[in-house]
Amino acid sequence: MSIQNIPRRRFDALIIGAGGGGLRAALQLAEADANVAVVSKVFPTRSHTVAAQGGMNAALANVLPDNWHWHMFDTVKGSDYLGDQDAIEYMCRAAPKVVYEMEHFGVPFSRLDNGKIYQRPFGGQSQNFGGEQAARTCAAADRTGHAILHSLYQQNIRAKTNFFDEYFAVDLLKDDEGNVLGAFVFNIHTGEELIIEAKTTLLATGGAGQLYRTTTNALINTGDGMAMALRAGLPLQDMEFFQFHPTGIAGRGMLITEGARGEGGYLVNAKGERLMERYAPKAKDLASRDVVSRAIYTEVKEGRGCGPEKDHVMLKLDHLGVDVIQKRLPGIRQTCITFLGIDPAEHPIPIYPTAHYTMGGIPTDRYGRVVTPVKDTPEEVVNGLYAAGECACVSVHGANRLGGNSILDILVFGRAAANHIIDYLKDVRYHKPMDENSVTQAYERLHRWDRTGEGESVEQLRKELKRAMEDNCGVFRTQEILDNGIKAVQQLQERMKDARIRDHSALFNTARVEALELENLMDVAMATVYSAGARHESRGAHSRIDFPDRDDMQWMKHTLFFKEGNKLDFKPVRTKPLSVASFPPKARVY
Ligand SMILES: Cc1cc2nc3c(=O)[nH]c(=O)nc-3n(C[C@H](O)[C@H](O)[C@H](O)COP(=O)(O)OP(=O)(O)OC[C@H]3O[C@@H](n4cnc5c(N)ncnc54)[C@H](O)[C@@H]3O)c2cc1C
Repeated sequence: MSIQNIPRRRFDALIIGAGGGGLRAALQLAEADANVAVVSKVFPTRSHTVAAQGGMNAALANVLPDNWHWHMFDTVKGSDYLGDQDAIEYMCRAAPKVVYEMEHFGVPFSRLDNGKIYQRPFGGQSQNFGGEQAARTCAAADRTGHAILHSLYQQNIRAKTNFFDEYFAVDLLKDDEGNVLGAFVFNIHTGEELIIEAKTTLLATGGAGQLYRTTTNALINTGDGMAMALRAGLPLQDMEFFQFHPTGIAGRGMLITEGARGEGGYLVNAKGERLMERYAPKAKDLASRDVVSRAIYTEVKEGRGCGPEKDHVMLKLDHLGVDVIQKRLPGIRQTCITFLGIDPAEHPIPIYPTAHYTMGGIPTDRYGRVVTPVKDTPEEVVNGLYAAGECACVSVHGANRLGGNSILDILVFGRAAANHIIDYLKDVRYHKPMDENSVTQAYERLHRWDRTGEGESVEQLRKELKRAMEDNCGVFRTQEILDNGIKAVQQLQERMKDARIRDHSALFNTARVEALELENLMDVAMATVYSAGARHESRGAHSRIDFPDRDDMQWMKHTLFFKEGNKLDFKPVRTKPLSVASFPPKARVY
């Protein structure tokens, strides 16, 4: 189809992404009578939120004493003091309300005998600012994300949200002043192209776990929204902080939720020792994720790993008894039986750290507005563009996310972004004229992948990228390793220019999607490894063997990576909360 004949549809708000973040925002907008479109490259209930197991944090105090201020302290400490304290306060205060909303939307949370919502202990949670373990994670057994996503989808159907299922967003569309005015998308099934014009656009495209070979993330988590932002000239923030979850199934990467340790599971090495006693004497197996991942990695490196290759440790659950496992962790039990042939009620599970969560992302404020630094001012709002969920960096997770805080983040800030959009729409009542050059660029980007036949294979390049990131930007880093990573990604980006897709008509569109996703992954990989090479300290998930200490004098700042010329900039951490005193940086001990 020629570019002039591509159909156009107009909406008040376009949301790219139908995970928890996108659907929560869509619901708020549709209920406010906004005309909202949600585009998703997979059927909405297959979005990756569906995989969330353990639960979402909120200080409900249903099991143990708790309050939002303790939750805030734990989140600031968990972030290794890089999180913005205004956003963290906002999130922790909003948490109980957001949980009750979800309950009313139909989420079947697990219950206590008194009928209240069940809450389990998770890593990095404490009572009274670092005291005894707290129990703050609200769960629907170990299928919390599934329950949340399905409830939100059903509510959106009721509210008459317009869905574009299995449409791939190629790029953002802009006017000649750089304001974002929608997106160029295509139907993966038919190849039909569509220009969606919108007064506001919200990116809710999730994380980029496909950067790594061993990952808990689905094939769809390719950082598309982050790459769209980079191509639109916007920076990505704090990309060096990538979370490796301590308990992935060894060699395969599937997640065993932290909830398994929350229910009383623990890690042992080849000698049968409870290894976390060595690394986190107080919190032990419920220390923060970065701490537990480094501990496992160190045990294996020092020869105390299990199995013939001594390349993993064991997670013991059998002492919990079959009833607890079946009631609280039925999905985990099933995963182990299906993929390992092991029943965790009888045998320990072989585990090793696996790539899990993108802490960095598109910089936003706590209203979900995308913000970018301009000369001499720390931030400027990009009119009409919003981001929420794992693709955004607000930043509530800083250098290390606490388990159970992501589902909370996507719901709190999906909702907040929608509320801001509702206000914005009161002032912006008409569609602005599009810069047709931006349509042409997106069209050409898609049609570059009409090329089939001989040349570099997209599949091969994708494998090599994942291997390069795993080898050069993993749990422990040095300058030499990271510089190798930068070189490797640069070479792959060059080779990508000659790549071709499979010449197989039945799979033509999916092959085009894979190529577009790989281009996105390459940009996000560069942002990640380049930012990691620049940060000369160890903080949270970013562990530098050559700079082992946290350096608050030099590095209490956010990194901003721009695609053009691989340029870096920095901006200050917002250490001032909204209504309480700041939590100043302290040594982070668990
Ligand atoms: C296995 C696993 C378990 C987890 N468990 C927990 C937990 O217990 N608690 C917790 O707090 N966190 C957990 N997390 C993290 C949490 O689930 C995610 O961070 C969160 O669900 C991300 O939600 P999202 O809405 O940002 O994105 P997603 O749910 O990933 O949705 C992204 C959406 O964007 C769409 N999309 C992307 N690119 C395009 C494109 N180019 N065009 C069109 N559509 C596009 C996708 O189709 C999808 O609809 C877990 C993560 C994993 C991997």
